[in-house]
Amino acid sequence: MTLLPFPDAVHVRAPGKINVYLGVGDRHDDGYHALATVFQAVSLYEDVIARPSDDFSIVVKGAVDPASVPLDDRNLAMRAAKLLATATGHDGGVALELRKSVPVAGGMGGGSADAAAALLACDALWGTGLSSARLHELATRLGADVPFALHGGTAVGTGRGDQLNPALARGRFDWVLVTSDEGLSTPVIYQRLDEQRARGEALADDPPLSLDVPIPVLQALRAGDPHSLAACMHNDLESPALEERPVLEEIIREGLGAGALSGIVSGSGPTVAFLCDTPESARYVQDQLEAQGREALHVHGPVSGARILSA
Ligand code: ATP
Repeated sequence: MTLLPFPDAVHVRAPGKINVYLGVGDRHDDGYHALATVFQAVSLYEDVIARPSDDFSIVVKGAVDPASVPLDDRNLAMRAAKLLATATGHDGGVALELRKSVPVAGGMGGGSADAAAALLACDALWGTGLSSARLHELATRLGADVPFALHGGTAVGTGRGDQLNPALARGRFDWVLVTSDEGLSTPVIYQRLDEQRARGEALADDPPLSLDVPIPVLQALRAGDPHSLAACMHNDLESPALEERPVLEEIIREGLGAGALSGIVSGSGPTVAFLCDTPESARYVQDQLEAQGREALHVHGPVSGARILSA
C-alpha cells in the first residue's frame, strides 16, 4: 500500500467578528484610516474545504446570494491561496469550496475569515508548513481583518487593525445579530465618515487626538461583565452607516426595547450586534426581533480563530 503524502481534502473553520469598540483616526496617504479597535470572534463560521487541483477555482455554498461573491482573483480566499503559492514556490493549484454563514458585506469580516481559512487549508494541503509568524505576515498582506480571523479570541487591533494584541476576556458574551440581505460597502462607509467630519457634523466624532481603546472597555472584557461592556461599546462607523441605511436605527431601538443591554453596528455594517445579559435573555431578544420580521441569530464570543477540522 502506498501512503498519500498529502491529504485529499482539508477542512478549516474560521469565525466572523464583531468590533466591540472601533475608533477611527485620520485617513493616511495610502487610503487607510488609523484604527483602534477591539475585535471579538463569534460563533458564526465560514467553512473552507481545500482539495488538490492543477489550477485555482472556487465554488460558494451556503445561505448567501452566490452572485454577491466574486469567484475570481477579487475573492480574498483565491488571493490567499495564490499568495501562499507564490510565497512558498508551490506550483500546483487548489479547488476551494466556501461554505458561507457570515453575511456578505455585513461588517463581520466574512471574506477575511475565508482568506484566513484558505491560508491555513492550503498550507496543510500542500504541506508547506509555514510558521504562525509567517502565516500572520501573509495574512497582513491580504487585508487588515485577516490576521484577526487567524488568531480569533478577543484582541486589540491598531494600525490598520492588523497590529494585534490579545485582550483578556473572561467568560462568555451573548450576542444577538440582526443581519440584512443587502450589504454595505466598507469603502463607501469610510468615505461617508470623512464627509461627515469635513462637514463638522456633531453626529460624527472628530478624529481622536490619540487613538487608544478606552481602559473601561478592556476592564469590562477582563471582568467578563456584559453590563459594564454595554456601557462603553462604541463604533465611529455607526453614524455614517446609519446615514446610509436609516432602518438600522429602528432595528437598534427594537433590540433595546426587547431587553438587549446595548446595540451597535458591527464594523461598517449593516449587521447590528446586541449584547445581552445571559443566554436566556439573548434567546428572548432573538425571538422578539424575529417576531418583528428581522433575521436574528444568537451567537457567543469569544471563540477561537481559524482551525483545521479535518485533513
Ligand atoms: P470588510 O472586511 O471589508 O469590512 P465585510 O466584512 O463587510 O467587509 P465581506 O463579506 O468580507 O464584508 O466582503 C466585502 C466584499 O468583498 C463583498 O461585497 C465581495 O464583493 C468581496 N469579497 C471578496 N472575497 C469575498 C469572500 N470570500 N466572501 C465574500 N465576499 C468577498
